[in-house]
Amino acid sequence: ALAVPDKQVDSVCPYCGVGCQLTYHVKDNRILFVQGRDGPANRERLCVKGRYGFDYAHHPHRLTRPLIRREGVPKTGSFTLDPDRVMDVFREASWDEALAFAGGKLRDLRDRHGRKSLAGFGSAKGSNEEAYLFQKLVRTGFGSNNVDHCTRLCHASSVVALLEGIGSGAVSNPVMDVTKAEVVIVIGANPTVNHPVAATWIKNAARAGTKLIVCDPRRSELARIAHRFLQFKPDTDVALLNAMMNVIVTEDLVDQAFIESRTIGYDELRRNVAAYTPQAMAPICGIDAETIREVARLYATSKASMILWGMGVSQHVHGTDNARCLIALSLMTGQIGRPGTGLHPLRGQNNVQGASDAGLIPMMYPDYQHVSSPAARQRFESAWQLPPGTLDDQPGLTVVEVMHAIESGGIRGMYVMGENPAMSDPDANHARDALAALEHLVVQDIFLTETAYLADVVLPASAFPEKTGSFTNTDRLVQLGRQAIEPPGEAKQDLWIIQELARRLGLDWNYTHVSQVFDEMRRTMPSIAGITWDRLEREHAVTYPCTEEGAPGQPVVFTTDFPREGGRARFVPADIIPADERPDADYPMVLITGRQLEHWHTGSMTRRATVLDAIEPDPVALIHPLDLAAMGLQPGGIVTLESRRGRVSLYARADDGSPRGAVFVPFCYYEAAINRLTNAALDPFAKIPEFKYCAIRVTPG
Ligand code: SF4
Repeated sequence: ALAVPDKQVDSVCPYCGVGCQLTYHVKDNRILFVQGRDGPANRERLCVKGRYGFDYAHHPHRLTRPLIRREGVPKTGSFTLDPDRVMDVFREASWDEALAFAGGKLRDLRDRHGRKSLAGFGSAKGSNEEAYLFQKLVRTGFGSNNVDHCTRLCHASSVVALLEGIGSGAVSNPVMDVTKAEVVIVIGANPTVNHPVAATWIKNAARAGTKLIVCDPRRSELARIAHRFLQFKPDTDVALLNAMMNVIVTEDLVDQAFIESRTIGYDELRRNVAAYTPQAMAPICGIDAETIREVARLYATSKASMILWGMGVSQHVHGTDNARCLIALSLMTGQIGRPGTGLHPLRGQNNVQGASDAGLIPMMYPDYQHVSSPAARQRFESAWQLPPGTLDDQPGLTVVEVMHAIESGGIRGMYVMGENPAMSDPDANHARDALAALEHLVVQDIFLTETAYLADVVLPASAFPEKTGSFTNTDRLVQLGRQAIEPPGEAKQDLWIIQELARRLGLDWNYTHVSQVFDEMRRTMPSIAGITWDRLEREHAVTYPCTEEGAPGQPVVFTTDFPREGGRARFVPADIIPADERPDADYPMVLITGRQLEHWHTGSMTRRATVLDAIEPDPVALIHPLDLAAMGLQPGGIVTLESRRGRVSLYARADDGSPRGAVFVPFCYYEAAINRLTNAALDPFAKIPEFKYCAIRVTPG
C-alpha cells in the first residue's frame, strides 16, 4: 500500500542559491516526497535536485556515532576511500570522549604554537546561525581570523569587485527582475544546470520579448533561445567586455547624468578602454566586431538592462577584473538602481550569501565589517563581551592559503564543518597531502567524506531536513529551513556541536535555541536588524536590507545612492591578464570544471540520492565530437585526462556545445576527482583559484 504522510513541514531546498521553498512530506521519520511551495523565488517550481534529492538523509552511509582515528593508522594524501570499511580506520567513541579529544588537542596546539596555528572551514550549506557561531568560535576560541568557506572558491572575486565598486557584495536586483528587463546578459553562467528554477524565469522573459544575450565559451541550453549567443574564447572576458565599453564610449551611449551624479573614476576607465576597439579585440575573443557593437548598443540603449553572471566569470586569476568590467558596464550606462536593471552574481550554494554575510570569511566580521577597522573590532568585542584588544586585527588566511600554511608548518590544527576540501580544492592531491600533514583535524559532517577520511576526530552532524535555521538565497531573501525529521543514531545538530566544542576551548556559551543566535546576529548586523525570528516564522521569507522592524525589505537597492563614501560608485579599469597556465605542446587542451544538473558540488549528498544517482551514475568528460574524432576516441569510451598535477580516467561524452580544444568535467565524482588536475593559481585580489582554465592532455584508455 502507498505510504501516507503523517506530517508536512515547510522548508527550503538544500542545494542551490535560488532558494526554492518546499514542503517535506514525512512518515515515521522518513521523507516520502517533496513538493514545491509558493515561495518568492520559485512559485511552486522545483528542479530535479530539489524534487528528488532528499533520500541521502536516510542513506546507510550516514555517520551515527563520533569516530576517533585508530592508533597507528597512518594519514596519507594518497588513499582510496571505501565507505564500507570505515571501521578499519576509525573506532567509535562517546560524545564526551570525542569532544574532549577534539577540543583538548585544538586547545593544546593553540597554547603551544600560538593562536594563528589553527584554522576553520565552515560551510555554505549550513544555516546563517551555524556560520555565525562557527566564525565566532574561530575568532574568539582559536583567536585568529583564519576562517573561510567555499565562497572563496566560487564568487570571492565578484564580491571583492562589488564591494570595491558599489559598496555591497550582494546582488542589486532579484533574479525575477529579468521579467522587467528589456535586455538580459547572462555571462559565464549555465543557469539551466546550476540554477534551474531561475533559468525558467529567464526563459519566460526571453519568450515574452526580453532580448536575452548569452555570452559563454560553452554553448548552454539557454543559448538556444537567446537573441544573441556570443561563444567567446575561454579566458577572454576582459577583451570582450572592454570592447563593449569601447563601443559605448565611442558612440556616446553613456548615461552622462548618472556618471556625473553617482560615480567616480569614469575618466580613467574611458581612457583605459580606448585601446580595446572591437576590431582589435575580435580576433582575441573570437567574436566579430559588428556583433560586439550590436550587443553593446542593445545593452546601453534599452530602458532596463540586467546582467547575471556565474563562475565562468569569477573562477579565473582575473576573476576580479572580469567582475569590475561588468560593474563598469552597468555604471557607465546607468543600468542599475531600478527594477529590471542591475548586477546579479548567481550565488552557488543555498547559503553562500548568508554564510558570507554572517562573517565566515577571513577579512570581515559579520555584515562585511573589516577586521582591520578599530571601530568594528570594538563593536564585536563589546557584543561578544571580550576584553578590549582581544580580537585579531589581521585578516586571516583564505582556503588555498591555509593549505600552503599547513605545508610550511604555520597551521597545525583545523576544524572543518561540512566542507570537503579534499575534493573541492584546486590541485587536490596537494590539498590532501596538506590535510594529512595536520597534527589534528576535526571534521563535522554527515558522511565520511574524503576530508573526513583524513581526520583525527569525526563528529556526526545533522542533514539539512534534521535542523532549523535561516538561509539567505541569491536574492538576499532570508528564509527559514525547518526541521522535518530527527537525526539518525547519535548524530547531533551542528549548532550543538559547535557550542560544545567552543566550551572545550574555554568559551562560556549557553545558547539554548537557534533564535537566540539569530537575535545576536541582528544586534551585530545592521542589514538584518529589522528581521525578527517571529516574522521569519510567520512570513517564511524577508529580504534584506531590512534595518527597522516591520520594514518591507528592499529587493532592489542603490536606487538613490551606493553604500560607499559620498554615496558614489567607483569605476575600476581592467586590462587583459592571461590564464596562469596556457596550453602547450605537452598539454595542448584546456580543462574547464563545473557542475551538472543532477549532482551537487562534491557529490556527497546527490550521489547518495537514489533518483539523481540513477540518472547520472558515472564520471564524464564532455568533449567536442570533432576533437573526439581527431583523437580517435569514441563517445562512451574511457579517456585519461592529465595535467602537471594529476590524472584521472573517466567516460568521454560527445558535446558539441563545448568549444574545440577544451574539455568540461563536473567536479562531483570521487572516482575521477577532477580537482587533482586543476591549478591552484589565485586571483591576487580575491584569492579565488583558476578552476576555469588549465592545460591538460587527453589520451584514450
Ligand atoms: Fe533547489 Fe536550486 Fe533546484 Fe530550486 S533550483 S529546487 S533551490 S536546486
